[in-house]
This record gives sequence, structure tokens and C-alpha cells, in this order.
Amino acid sequence: MFRRLRHWQARGFERRHPFPHTDWAEARSRVPLLAALNDDDAQQLGQRAWRFLHDKRVSLHKELAKTTSFDLPAHLALAAQICLLTLGWDDDDHQEAFANVHEVQILPDAFQRQVEEMDEFGVMHEYVDERAGETSFQGPVVVSFPDLMGSGDWNGFNVLIHEFAHKLDLGNASDVDGFPPLPREIDPHEWHHIFTTVWEDLQAHLERGESPPIDDYAATHPGECFAVCCEHFFSAPDVLIKAYPALYALLSRYFRQDPLLRLSHEAHAHASLSATEPTSHSHNSDASSRD
Ligand SMILES: [Zn+2]
Repeated sequence: MFRRLRHWQARGFERRHPFPHTDWAEARSRVPLLAALNDDDAQQLGQRAWRFLHDKRVSLHKELAKTTSFDLPAHLALAAQICLLTLGWDDDDHQEAFANVHEVQILPDAFQRQVEEMDEFGVMHEYVDERAGETSFQGPVVVSFPDLMGSGDWNGFNVLIHEFAHKLDLGNASDVDGFPPLPREIDPHEWHHIFTTVWEDLQAHLERGESPPIDDYAATHPGECFAVCCEHFFSAPDVLIKAYPALYALLSRYFRQDPLLRLSHEAHAHASLSATEPTSHSHNSDASSRD
């Protein structure tokens, strides 16, 4: 009954809002993560992104709006990187996953927040933190324009995937804890065990004074660990599978996607286009401001 209703609504939406094929092609050409999709995935993701733009608000800070033209391909590229998270899920699960999102705000620059944090000894610390993005339980997702423009490549940094991973995490609690609602086929104990192993490895690297194999921001909080691992899963799957193969396999089952396949197709296409140009997927380590 609901499925038929949803199907009927989708047909109505398509009639009223014809899909912008040219703008979607342009969006894909600007964003390597989207360019690497196969035709079926690209079509489905494009349609979900188009729908997302009608269901949610995307607002540009007024200072930014004066200097930047954020055109339709830019809007589609933004929505598509968000919907990439749930591309492997059916329409109902996809809709449900972002039901707690109403608005995405884009600010001109990284922004500062006064942070209060209790340490393990119960002492409260206050400091000013510079952030690339911010997500709260019912509030808007806020991202900075430079970080948005720095997202979309195969480099392990993606502010949209990061912030919307927090939204998934918030699907069952009012605070992030690295434990999103899980599908029935994933045992919560397995999830906990694999993430704990990664967490302990990150801490061990830091204690030895070494840099961890993924962005060390993952070591600051279990919620950040999940979000940073999602960024790597989608945009540096080669790095993640090498560092933490069990985690990559777990996230593949959770997201029902294998981004490593897309990366290898992309690398292959790139190599055949230009045999002389190196295809490096360097890990972006200057993602200094995050949330
Ligand atoms: Zn975060």
C-alpha cells in the first residue's frame, strides 16, 4: 500500500520536476567520486539527489551568495555526495536515514565554536574549536564552503560524508556514539568489536608518537571514528582496506556498497586516458578543521 503510494508520488514528482540531465552530467564531471559511478548507480543517485534538493533546504550564507554562484550542478553535486552514503539502500531506508535532516547551510569559512568538554578525571575544559562542519540532532547540517570545495575527490576527506555519517549515527540517539541503527543482519557485538579494535589501534599509534593510517581525528571520539571511517570508506577505500580490512568489510555490508571497485575503475579509466599522468590518490592530511 505504502509502496504503491510512494511509487505514485514519485511519478508525480518526475512529471512536475523533469530530471535535469545536463546539469547532472556537469555535476558528475566536477566531482571524481560521482564521475566514477557506473550508469545504473549514477542514474539512481542523480534522481535521489534531485529529490533531496526539493525535500530539504540548501542555504548559502548571504556573504557567500554575494561572491559565489552556486549553480544547479553545484547543488546536485552536494546532494549526491550526501545521498552516496545510502546509495546501496532501498528508497524507504534512504528516506528514513535522512528524515532528521531539514537543512544544509553553507558558511563562507570554517567557523568557531566554544566547546566544553569533560575529561576522564571529571575536569571541564573550555576551548575555541575551528570546525569544517557541524551536525546536531534535529538542527541543520552546517558546512564551510572551502571544505565543501575540498570534498569530492579520492583523498579521504569529505565534509558532507563526514557530517551526514553523524546524521546516520544520530538515527537512534540524541548524541553521536559511533553506533548508528544497524540492519538486522549485522550483529551489534560484531560492530562494537571491530570498531573497538580500530579505536585501540588508533590510540596505540598516537601513544607511540606515530601517525595512524587514517586521519587522527578519528581517535578523538567514537562518533568521530565512525564519521572519519565513512569518509575513508567512500573516498579512500584503498587506504581503509589496507589499514583495517575487517572494518572495510563491515562497512561494505552496512552500506551495501564496494567503493574500492569504483576507485579501481576510475584508476583504470584514468590510466587508459593518459598513460603518462600518474594516478595518485594521495591522502589529504591538511583537513585541519573538522567536526
Ligand atoms: Zn565530526
